[in-house]
Amino acid sequence: MSINDKKIMLSGITATGKLTLANYIGAIRNMVKLQDQYENYIFIADLHALTLPIDPQELEQNRRNIFALFRACGIDTNKTTLFFQSDILEHGMMNWLVLTNTTIGELSRMTQFKDKSSKVKTANGMETIPTGLLMYPTLMVGDILLYNADIIPVGIDQKQHVELTRNLAIRLNNKYKTNFKVPEPYIPEVGAKIMSLTEPTKKMSKSDKNEKSSIYLLDDPEKAYKKIMKAVTDSEGKIYLSDEKPGIKNLLTIYSALTDKTLEQTSELFADKNYGELKQAVGEEVKSFLIDIQAKYAEAMKHIDEEAKIGAEKARKVAHKNLEKLMKGMGLNNASK
Ligand code: ATP
Ligand code: MG
Repeated sequence: MSINDKKIMLSGITATGKLTLANYIGAIRNMVKLQDQYENYIFIADLHALTLPIDPQELEQNRRNIFALFRACGIDTNKTTLFFQSDILEHGMMNWLVLTNTTIGELSRMTQFKDKSSKVKTANGMETIPTGLLMYPTLMVGDILLYNADIIPVGIDQKQHVELTRNLAIRLNNKYKTNFKVPEPYIPEVGAKIMSLTEPTKKMSKSDKNEKSSIYLLDDPEKAYKKIMKAVTDSEGKIYLSDEKPGIKNLLTIYSALTDKTLEQTSELFADKNYGELKQAVGEEVKSFLIDIQAKYAEAMKHIDEEAKIGAEKARKVAHKNLEKLMKGMGLNNASK
């Protein structure tokens, strides 16, 4: 237990692009909800952003945007330690200690690795896949263990990585007599997997090259409304919940999440309506949500440097203490410390 006896919540978002509504609904919304109950660590995963090639200027801009968007969405620095991952050098060291306790088989079986590597694989096969993509999960395991977290709010796509963390916590505890907690993923009931607006069988992703597939939190609200109006659905014309109707289900899910309703309540609400009416209602909700956070975003941008410094100082102490425990267990008990 931590000093104040609260359990620990930890989560991060990769600085690979502009934050989407899916990142908000799948993860940030729960981080905000859990803030009062837990001791919280939230970070901008800028080291994770290096797993695929990224332009340095773009990375710098992404990381600042995400910091300010966390604040605009309701992450409160009085309740949460908010920081940049790369400010805490312990993350890199922890990654090495963790990955030397895994196998290539274990990492190459991860679904995200398979999905993302299949997109970059060319005629040379494995040889062109960036090593960082394979190591993404071990870096994430390290992130979680460094803060000895109990609960990890994430979308469903990250569940497997939290499961790997659970396995690693147990493995390390057995091998090295550490006492890492075995963390639980915290996945929303509504919105664990928001789908692409143009291909509703694929998840919405901030790294998707097609800007029409995603609602970005910094999209012009009118433009976002239009993207919803153009969302791909089906030709049946009837509104009901079904996995055979992924486009409609996605719109019902977005509406439910933004209005705090269950999926059943929303589908009843729209049962007698047509697709145009549903899209209009979802579009309006999205628009007013974006207007609200964008107003707060501008103010948040002004305070990033000072807030990130305070966050890093707090995070570093905790990370260092947990790293040392593992180093000691592994036989790396340095005399020079
Ligand atoms: P990338 O395409 O670079 O992987 P991403 O949109 O998947 O970007 P991540 O930084 O990988 O974003 O994930 C941040 C958080 O958002 C994670 O908790 C993840 O589970 C959640 N998340 C990502 N995509 C979705 C989605 N489509 N629906 C719900 N949650 C999501
Ligand atoms: Mg992702």
